[in-house]
Amino acid sequence: MANGADAIASLDPGVAPVASAPAGSGIVYLDGRYVPRAEARVSVDDRGFLFGDGAYEVTRTVDGRLFEGERHARRLARTLGGLDIAVPGAELAALDAVALRLLRENALEEGEAAVYLQVTRGAAVPRTHHFPPAGTRPTIYAAVTRFVPPAALRARGASVITVPDIRWSRCDLKTVNLLPNALAKQQAVVAGADEAIFVRDGVLMEGAHTNLFAVLGGELRTAPATNYILPGITRDVVLELARGDGIAVREYPLLASELPGATELFVTSTTSDVLPVVRVDGRAVGDGAPGPVARRLYELLAARMYGS
Ligand code: PMP
Repeated sequence: MANGADAIASLDPGVAPVASAPAGSGIVYLDGRYVPRAEARVSVDDRGFLFGDGAYEVTRTVDGRLFEGERHARRLARTLGGLDIAVPGAELAALDAVALRLLRENALEEGEAAVYLQVTRGAAVPRTHHFPPAGTRPTIYAAVTRFVPPAALRARGASVITVPDIRWSRCDLKTVNLLPNALAKQQAVVAGADEAIFVRDGVLMEGAHTNLFAVLGGELRTAPATNYILPGITRDVVLELARGDGIAVREYPLLASELPGATELFVTSTTSDVLPVVRVDGRAVGDGAPGPVARRLYELLAARMYGS
């Protein structure tokens, strides 16, 4: 297991954005080649750069094994399908092997790491809103970084703010169009909070980069997996673990007006695990301390991830 001392950078120091290794260090994968990060170059004509026209995934690894790799691969394929970005099946199938080789190249086969993978519609001239000619090669980029789980934040509990959900209506696709998410998260940071929760028509949807759960009336509640939230892999796993543990679960919209009745709140993500939320917009959730349901679900998730 990684400890703080050998960490290059925590990927998520308190539900923070993905951090990278120090500039210029490490080997990354770009379009079929393994190259030093400082030498990796993407075209100015790349549609990821010009339009945010691409998909991404972040996957955890423990001792050289991808955690829930198949679920991440399925979601990536689903996003690519939703965006109509064609990646040859063999190339998609080889991405796990790319991740494993990157771990090797970067001496991250032991302990914890995170894999960042991005696929864009590729580079094409002239710049047009409509898609480039069939056969334009997608750009495929992958990188790995040391990961340190946010243990201290989990112990003390996170604070969140609520913000209007200004996103589009395909939040179920994991695209690199993350400007509303970035603006929301920045608003949280400026407010001294750890995460922002999007509210759409009085409904708490999800965080800027996390899914949201509440314990309400003795049930575990989370927004249904519609087009208005990202179907988080951690959300899925936590739902499965909760059901398996006999916890009553309901995938049903959580109204902002119901918040005062919540005894617990927590967010989930690949880089946050199960993270208790103890304050919303400055008001305490329940008794203001991390609760037993979040603790139990984190334990179950950790057992699954670390194989204890
Ligand atoms: N919602 C949003 C908007 C996200 O960006 C993320 C993280 N990618 C999540 C939820 C959590 O998803 P996962 O558990 O797959 O990391």
